[in-house]
Amino acid sequence: MAASGMLSTFRLPPLPTIREIIKLFRLQAAKQLSQNFLLDLKLTDKIVRKAGNLTNAYVYEVGPGPGGITRSILNANVAELLVVEKDSRFIPGLQMLSDAAPGKLRIVHGDVLTFKIERAFPGSLKRQWEDDPPNVHIIGNLPFNVSTPLIIKWLENVSCRGGPFVYGRTQMTLTFQKEVAEVTHHRKNSSSAAAVVAAAHYKGSHLKRQQLWRYLKSGVLDTLTKKSTMPQNDVCLLTMKVDVGVVHFTPLVQPRIEQPFKLVEKVVQNAFQFRRKYCYRGLGMLFPEVQRVESTGKLLELADVDPTLRPSQLSVSHFKRLCDVYRKMCDEDPHLFAYNFREELKQNKSKTQEKEDDKERDRL
Ligand code: SAM
Repeated sequence: MAASGMLSTFRLPPLPTIREIIKLFRLQAAKQLSQNFLLDLKLTDKIVRKAGNLTNAYVYEVGPGPGGITRSILNANVAELLVVEKDSRFIPGLQMLSDAAPGKLRIVHGDVLTFKIERAFPGSLKRQWEDDPPNVHIIGNLPFNVSTPLIIKWLENVSCRGGPFVYGRTQMTLTFQKEVAEVTHHRKNSSSAAAVVAAAHYKGSHLKRQQLWRYLKSGVLDTLTKKSTMPQNDVCLLTMKVDVGVVHFTPLVQPRIEQPFKLVEKVVQNAFQFRRKYCYRGLGMLFPEVQRVESTGKLLELADVDPTLRPSQLSVSHFKRLCDVYRKMCDEDPHLFAYNFREELKQNKSKTQEKEDDKERDRL
């Protein structure tokens, strides 16, 4: 009790402001790394509050930069904060914070995409999957081109309970970038998450953003509202709360779609292949050309999905049924899951090319 009493009174001593740190260490935002910094500690406190009660928590902050969110986390009575930052320019400023919070802040100069968080915290924190979430949190404000592949990786980790989810149902609180959050303000009548991810869809590392957009879209986005604190929405495996640019994820005990992540991802990606067309067009790409019409018909019929729905009109239960039927079809045909329509297109093209080359040779 005494220890937790002491922890609960922890406050960082007076420090230079983030603005002063940026000046002191010449930390101009690198545009090519999509860096932008949160300077207002009231805002970073608000973001950190979205993570819930962090007393005695073990927190993993991705991309601390000059340390705005880092300060708010340290002031939230955490047991330990581990930060992973790729840009070495930020390390001295973070070291200053570490000195101000002895024994609380661990700094890793590294890449969040490869860092092994599963070994970073004490094993005693681990909880059973069915239990309440462990006192382990991920918090971060990353550029979208990093957070998107990272979230996809974490979604996959959720399904096999690896990575940060070796501790149990680790919660994540991720802040989307200013320009993305702004879109959520402008589109008063659309869902904030939809706006966030739609904005992400149109900029930068296109494929990965698209991938996330499709994946999220399959789960929740059409049901989120502007205010969007909807505790029971899910991205197949997660509950999700959204608040203008801050997304809080908690893994579900029981995934809504109980199929391997790669299979769910494949079905969703294919469904969104032609976003403005009827869903049968994209779903058809799951099957080789020679059997496409017949197999797509069978998939849609057995899954009881109207072929003329647009991908954006498909709900989680549509996707659940599609994944379940597709799984059965894959079990019946062991080559089906490995089928990739792009490969077939490429092969067809080179065959056509070969034929044309042969004709050309014959003419000469
Ligand atoms: N968290 C700080 C804030 O809110 O002011 C900085 C946010 S800035 C948008 C993103 C930070 O993530 C930068 O400090 C950048 O160097 C860092 N970063 C980008 N990619 C990273 C990666 N792959 N691994 C670790 N850090 C990364």
